[in-house]
Amino acid sequence: MSPESIEKLRDAIRDVPDFPKPGIVFKDITPVLSDGALFRQSIDLFLERCQTHQIDKIVCIDARGFLFGSAVAYQLGIGLVLIRKKGKLPYKSERASYTLEYGKAEMEMHIDSVHPGERIVLIDDLLATGGTSFSAITLIKRVGGVLVEAQFLIELEFLKGRARLDPSPVVSFLKY
Ligand code: AMP
Repeated sequence: MSPESIEKLRDAIRDVPDFPKPGIVFKDITPVLSDGALFRQSIDLFLERCQTHQIDKIVCIDARGFLFGSAVAYQLGIGLVLIRKKGKLPYKSERASYTLEYGKAEMEMHIDSVHPGERIVLIDDLLATGGTSFSAITLIKRVGGVLVEAQFLIELEFLKGRARLDPSPVVSFLKY
């Protein structure tokens, strides 16, 4: 994708200061979603990267990760797995707890959604402290999945989430 297209995406992402708590600058992606061309470009970033790998499934994170993960899985014709906040999944689930930039929570994944040896790309909208994705990677590995790469539209580099995920491979398209 051209540097100009990447910059248009960057320009569309809106900073919302003090949301959801004082001191947090929230990266609001809804202006990207509501623009057809930009939404497609954001999905294409993930898609083009996924096409460089042999993968079996996309695992995506509640809730904005679903927006990108589902589109990529559809395009590739591969399965989609949801990692959700505690209490949302109906069937037997694995659970991992984590801390994030503005709170603490637990994530869950159905025990039978990833099979041993399956090659996985993890997708979320944003990498901040890495707590959420660390718990997602823990869940994927616990059931025997092979993490090929974790992909994010946005990375807040100053929060050092990438270091927290080390040695897992991390790719992000817009760095702040
Ligand atoms: P973390 O666990 O700290 O890496 O936080 C990542 C998760 O929290 C992602 O699912 C994001 O959607 C959300 N998140 C954390 N910080 C922000 C932020 N500043 N703006 C938007 N979303 C955020």
